[in-house]
Amino acid sequence: MPATVKYLLDEEQIPRSWYNLQADLPEPLAPPLHPGTGEPIGPADLEPLFPMALIEQEVSVERYIDIPDPVRDIYRSWRPSPLYRARGLEAKLDTPARIYYKYEGVSPAGSHKVNTSVPQAFYSKEAGISRIATETGAGQWGSAMSYAAALFDLTVKVYMVKVSFNQKPYRRAMMETFGAECVASPSMDTEAGRAILAATPDTSGSLGIAISEAVEDAVHREDTKYALGSVLNHVLLHQTIIGQEAEVQMEMADDYPDIIVGCTGGGSNFAGIAFPFIGKQLRDGPQVEVIAVEPKACPTLTRGRYAYDFGDTAHLTPMVKMHTLGSSFVPLGFHAGGLRYHGMAPLVSHVQELGLLTPRAYHQLECFEAAVTFARAEGIVPAPEASHAIKGGIDEALRCKQDGRSRSILINLSGHGFFDMQAYTDYFGGKLQDGVYDDNELAMALSGLPSVNQA
Ligand SMILES: *Cc1c(COP(=O)(O)O)cnc(C)c1O
Repeated sequence: MPATVKYLLDEEQIPRSWYNLQADLPEPLAPPLHPGTGEPIGPADLEPLFPMALIEQEVSVERYIDIPDPVRDIYRSWRPSPLYRARGLEAKLDTPARIYYKYEGVSPAGSHKVNTSVPQAFYSKEAGISRIATETGAGQWGSAMSYAAALFDLTVKVYMVKVSFNQKPYRRAMMETFGAECVASPSMDTEAGRAILAATPDTSGSLGIAISEAVEDAVHREDTKYALGSVLNHVLLHQTIIGQEAEVQMEMADDYPDIIVGCTGGGSNFAGIAFPFIGKQLRDGPQVEVIAVEPKACPTLTRGRYAYDFGDTAHLTPMVKMHTLGSSFVPLGFHAGGLRYHGMAPLVSHVQELGLLTPRAYHQLECFEAAVTFARAEGIVPAPEASHAIKGGIDEALRCKQDGRSRSILINLSGHGFFDMQAYTDYFGGKLQDGVYDDNELAMALSGLPSVNQA
């Protein structure tokens, strides 16, 4: 039985700054536009939503941004996260590939999301805010934000997508344990929620709807800011701590990744592991093949359009240029709830347009199969979201076997699946299906893209 090898850093080796890919891009990002006027927005337009420190990070083109000491001190309770050489999986696949995975499931909420919820809570507290409104898909972001808020003595209201609220009651219990209030979205607590419930009482909800509710909540209260767990530049920035640690750990392993694989919901864990390596490549460092894996039931990068769109259903957020399925898109209720967002981070979308990543889509059943193979070899039950990255990594390892090439593959294992065991039970019981996503519905959602794209 080949043993898994673990590369651990000293806590002194936690990076002191986040890495900002915007500093190294050959072309800048398209600017966000005001949802009402269609004109480029300035920092003042975002002030009702976010603390100024985060708005500054959102638009910064500085290569490195210091991690505040209090944030770094909290990071130390679970960082540096381990990097493993997956010898068990390699043996099972009988591949010449060298497979590594960075494991973010060791965090207090069980995923990478705490890497950004902690700085977001810190900057909110510094700005004199006492309450945060946010949304959550599968519940990972809601738990991460609730934990961080508890550390900084903030109150939180979480709008949780209804299908997950029903599928994942223990995530809600976790949020409540950390002190948050959690309601199913759409809810009767906001105008956006009431309007959607009136039109479609049986809706399973969507991240787009939950974002509308949380944004509306935040703009109507002086004491409240909004927090988002993915998509935005500052969120992706905070996640780069993952890739920067991995750079040092790969060095300890005396290796460098030929291939990097991450799953993409809004794009943050993928960006977190990949951007430091992509940046190095852009600064004439080694070439890396970067693969972004998404579900076929929410195929933003592989079937979406690169266009300006709203981040939410009620069109309260700025318009950003991204790969999108249309803001009215309501994805099927498949089990990787964290991957059910209609859009993709503008930075990840831009990186794809620059030809710096390869997108790939899989069905959920083949991802569960990969997750089970992984669990039996490595002893970690992956989150259904992370199983997409594992499926992508396994396929690359099998390709190495076919070609007889020993390449190095780095997978981001974004979180554990301990709150998702019902999904595994359903998988073993043959109750899960591969949702086929309808062309007509996609065309309809895309026909609602804002007219600014015609200009
Ligand atoms: C939220 C989540 C994702 C998807 O979000 P990204 O912003 O794309 O990273 C993936 N994996 C886990 C474990 C998550 O909690």
